[in-house]
Parts: sequence; structure tokens; C-alpha cells
Amino acid sequence: MTAANPYLVARLGGLGTTIFTEMTALAVETGSVNMGQGMPDTDGPQEIMDAVTAAMAAGHNQYPPLPGMPVLRQAVAAHQRRFHALEYDPDSEIQITMGASEALTASVLAFCEAGDEIVMFEPYFDLYAAAGALAAAQRRVVTLRQPDFGFDLDELRAAIGPQTRLLILNTPHNPTGKVFARDELTAIAELCIEHDVIVLSDEVYEHMVFDGRTHTPMATLPGMWDRTVTISSAGKTFSFTGWKIGWACAPAPLIEAIRTVKQNLTFAGGTPFQPAVAHGLGMPDSYFDGLTQEMQAKRDHLSGALQAAGFDVLAPAGTYFVTVDITSIGETDGLAFCRSLPDRCGVVAVPSVVFYDTKAVGAALVRFTFCKRMDVLDEAVARLGRLGGGS
Ligand code: PMP
Ligand code: GLN
Repeated sequence: MTAANPYLVARLGGLGTTIFTEMTALAVETGSVNMGQGMPDTDGPQEIMDAVTAAMAAGHNQYPPLPGMPVLRQAVAAHQRRFHALEYDPDSEIQITMGASEALTASVLAFCEAGDEIVMFEPYFDLYAAAGALAAAQRRVVTLRQPDFGFDLDELRAAIGPQTRLLILNTPHNPTGKVFARDELTAIAELCIEHDVIVLSDEVYEHMVFDGRTHTPMATLPGMWDRTVTISSAGKTFSFTGWKIGWACAPAPLIEAIRTVKQNLTFAGGTPFQPAVAHGLGMPDSYFDGLTQEMQAKRDHLSGALQAAGFDVLAPAGTYFVTVDITSIGETDGLAFCRSLPDRCGVVAVPSVVFYDTKAVGAALVRFTFCKRMDVLDEAVARLGRLGGGS
């Protein structure tokens, strides 16, 4: 950590540069295979890209309406109905955002007074902590534990109290690849109802759930539609992470509060991307099934190779990511391991410890992404195979 920046407010002082920025810069600098940042190396469907250029040519280049273009809000509503049997009114219950990131940050800023508590599971996607810090809220973490990343219900019960305003849930879960089971979600839901807690449900990996499992949106559980903000993004579902088109679905008063913040963060943008993403959301089941199959094959390929290279692989049920425990190869410090990996074998990965408050629990865990071409995965694995020789 560098010395504190005197210009940065104290409550943001601990944030520094995100691990994704650090590791992607390291990959570029060292010419390493970047298995760190969850960023596909292949573009999404050509027909969606064509829809962007068509939208530009048709003059969709100025500010869109603050809630998002009607065509996209209608497409999000249709998607939620089609895949999850969830009903949202496109006008009052859906907000288009600059990626899932803005939906998350705007929600936290909208709902939390300074000092309010936000409960989240660790390891957690780093933005949750940053959004909490922006709002001057307090973070309470509940640890997901190996090997299946389950949680202790008593620990969750103890974390939720009178100051709890929000619980942030992420399923399928980055970085572990855990897909929360219905009974786990039910237990979480019961506590949130009992304590009148709003749930931010980050479901950006909703279409990356493997081995025939199903993704259960929190809003589908009894009593939860009323208190859940469901967040997703075109970045993952269509492999266009740089477009930053996301959305939040929730009851009207919650959306209104989010919108109030969002209009003062970025107002509204991404105009030509919005009708293109609307087109994508309407693509046939074969597209969504194909994405799942492709990611599952990549998961299998990378997991098998990592196992063969001696890593203890914690098999993911969803997402872009596989986690390994490096104690199986005689290492204990994931951060030092990841910082040395480019020199040792020309590969970049992410140390999962950065996603933990309880550092000891995540110290030896390392996350690799498999949202890469098969030949890139092969190259990464060949390089990792040389690790044992210390070359
Ligand atoms: N949530 C999770 C769990 C993520 O992994 C990401 C990564 N991009 C985001 C939110 C942010 O999504 P977006 O790029 O759409 O802002
Ligand atoms: N969600 C991606 C990851 O976890 C990238 C996030 C980012 O770069 N901010 O790797």
C-alpha cells in the first residue's frame, strides 16, 4: 500500500488500486497470459455489434431517457419473465445503468445513511466494500468456507442487527463460483424479512450456471420480491464487458431512490448500445444455452489442467472463475504467489485474499478466469505446468 493520499477523504483511504487494474497492468508489462481480470478475449455475437452500428446510423447518439430507452426496459422485463417468471413494470420498476457497477453503487448510496450496516458474504466482489465506503456505511461480513463455500447460519444471524440496512448477495458468486442453493437463499430471506433488510442481489453471472443446476433469483422467494433489487449486466451475458450496460429491477419506490442517485452519478448514456442489448436479450434459447455450454467446457478444461498441475481445485458451479488452494503445491501466500507468477511462468492470476476481511481464511486461495479462448487456456496451463521445475 502506498502512502496515504492527502487529497483523498479518509474513509476511502484503504481502497487503493483494484486488484484487477494491478494484475492486468502486470500482464501487459510482462507479456503474461492474463487469467486475472474476468474479461473475455472474444467478442460477443456479431448481430449485437451490428445492432449498435445500425442504432448509431439511425441517430441514437444523444442522451437516452434517464430510466433507459423503453426498448431496453421492455426487453429486460421480458427477460426476467422468460427466464425467471419475475414480473416488472418496464416504466417504474426497471432502471438501466452504466453496468452492474453503477446499479450497485447507486443502490448503496440511495439506501444507506452514514453508519448503517451492510451485510455481505466474504470473499466479496471488491466493489461492494468500495460502495459501502462511499456511503460511509459499515461492513459486516459472513465467511463462506471451503470446500463448498457454505456459511454458518448463526454467523449470519449474528451479523444482522438493528443497524442493518442492506444485505448484498451475489449468486452465482465471484470469486468462488458458488451457486447459492434454494435452502441457503431461504434462510437468508427469512432473516432479511424478520429484520426488514433490503437485499441487493447481484446476478451478473445468471447465465453461467453449470452441470444442469438452476440459478434461483432471490426475488423469486416468498416475500422477497418486495425487498429485493435484482441487478445484472450485458457485460457477462453477451461478452461485451466494455459497453457497461446494466440494470436494476425492483419495486417502484426502490427504483425511484436508485434513479435519484444514478442521475447525479452519470445521468444517462450508452445510447446506441441500449437497443443492441435489447436485441440480445431477445435472442433464442440456443444462444443462452450455448453460452452456458461453452463456459462449462472451458471450466472443465481449465479445472482438469490445474488439477493435473498439482493444484487443489475448488470446483465452481458457475461464473467465469475457478479457485485453487495453493497449499497443495507447497505455497501459502496467494498474494506473493500471484505477484511472482509472471516472472516464474508468464501467467497472471488474482489472489483471492483481496476479497476477504478475514485474511487468514483466504490467504492461500487464488482465482483464475476461464473466459478465454481454448488455445489461451492451453497456453496458460502449459506455462503453469512449468512451475514445479521452478523455471
Ligand atoms: N458484480 C460482479 C460479481 C462482477 O464480477 C462484476 C464484474 N464486472 C460486476 C458486478 C460489474 O459488472 P459491470 O461490468 O456490468 O459493471
Ligand atoms: N468482474 C471482473 C472480475 O472480477 C472485473 C471487474 C473489474 O475489472 N472491475 O475480474
